[in-house]
Amino acid sequence: MNDTSTPRLHRRDFVKTGGGLLALSTLPLLSGSASAQTPARTAGATGPIVEGFPPAELVGRPMPKGLELGLPPEERIGFAIVGLGDYAANIIIPHLGDTKKCKLTALVSGNEEKRAKIAATYGISDEHLYSYETFDEIADDPEVDVVYIITPNVFHRELTERAFAAGKHVLCEKPLAVTAEDCQAMIDAGKQAGKKLMIGYRAQYDPYNLMAIDLIKEGRIGTPSLIVADHHRLLPLEEPRNQWRAKKDVAGGGSLYDIGIYSLNGARYLMGEEPVSVSARYHEGSGRPEIDVEEGIEWRLVFPGGAVANCSSSYLTTNNKRIHVQGDKGEITLDPATDYFVRNLKVTDRSESKHQIEEVAISDSNQFVPMLDEMAASVIENREPKTPGEEGLRDVRIMQAIYRAADSGEEVELG
Ligand code: NAD
Repeated sequence: MNDTSTPRLHRRDFVKTGGGLLALSTLPLLSGSASAQTPARTAGATGPIVEGFPPAELVGRPMPKGLELGLPPEERIGFAIVGLGDYAANIIIPHLGDTKKCKLTALVSGNEEKRAKIAATYGISDEHLYSYETFDEIADDPEVDVVYIITPNVFHRELTERAFAAGKHVLCEKPLAVTAEDCQAMIDAGKQAGKKLMIGYRAQYDPYNLMAIDLIKEGRIGTPSLIVADHHRLLPLEEPRNQWRAKKDVAGGGSLYDIGIYSLNGARYLMGEEPVSVSARYHEGSGRPEIDVEEGIEWRLVFPGGAVANCSSSYLTTNNKRIHVQGDKGEITLDPATDYFVRNLKVTDRSESKHQIEEVAISDSNQFVPMLDEMAASVIENREPKTPGEEGLRDVRIMQAIYRAADSGEEVELG
């Protein structure tokens, strides 16, 4: 690694090298030899040799370096999880334990047996367990501050309104709702109740995506004028989590609402502008009779400065979660851009006929923990969350316009 190949990235917890990746957190181990740090000892000595060094007996020592303790339990924000499916049980509930400001305090599910097993694992007692029928009783549960809705899309509005009526704040999964009208009703209900509404856009808390945003703003690739964003995966219908996704009356839309939303949201936050028009076309589906949503779709967003984003989503090809941004000095590729655990960020400098590729490695790149802590912080500090309901509304409005464009074959202006 040399200075000219080191990009000016302002995060202290990563470095990149021409030929590979190196997590900065390993560097202190590499600098200085063990002998340089270990003082000479006299045989039989028990007391400290140098002021501050420990004696050869069991003693208390200073707080470990870098330890950032979270809030004590009584100051943490209590979360009720609604819908104990794949994302809730495998990803969100386990990550709540890694946060600094949140705690799991209640569970809401229509499956009593599953709920009891998860409750036992996380130490949630019976009085904090709810069904969809008894959910409104959560109003009297002082342990619950935030209701996190992780059900199929069509239920997001109803559950949000019930949570606000119960006097709770709401974190809601994407898409915020199935129509812009529903999104607006949720936003209005939150304002009327004086409670926060946040959309769970984890990618906007992901250090890799945040780094890409910073690099583009710093001008590392010049003026961005082309984005290519694709999100694809297969939809095996034997898996329960995929079954409702095949049904328009439960999912609200197809691959676009499910994973294309990452292409759309990514194009918006990486370009840093709102698109002014969209054209779109459907892909031919697989013909499976159980599926009544669009399986594949591609769309083209035009931004005010003339930049374009060519995006796609489908259930017809294997996993793809890639976003590529091209400017007049270089390009940035996030591939995968929106995976739960693996993200890769590549920056190519093409200025002055160079073709210099740099890869970024970020040692602590958890995206779920900062997202959950942001919800809690917005409640503690009584401020708008970074990704409020309005951010979810913008995407739903554009996704509805994408469908109108694909249905009509006409370019649709975005207001
Ligand atoms: P899932 O099918 O695994 O879980 C949905 C849960 O909702 C079920 O387990 C059940 O408890 C409950 N539910 C209530 N009524 C239901 C019904 N009629 N049909 C099916 N389930 C019903 O789905 P999932 O993958 O966990 O997705 C849930 C929500 O989370 C969706 O809005 C999805 O878009 C969102 N999600 C977000 C991410 C992300 O990365 N942000 C990832 C996956 C899912």
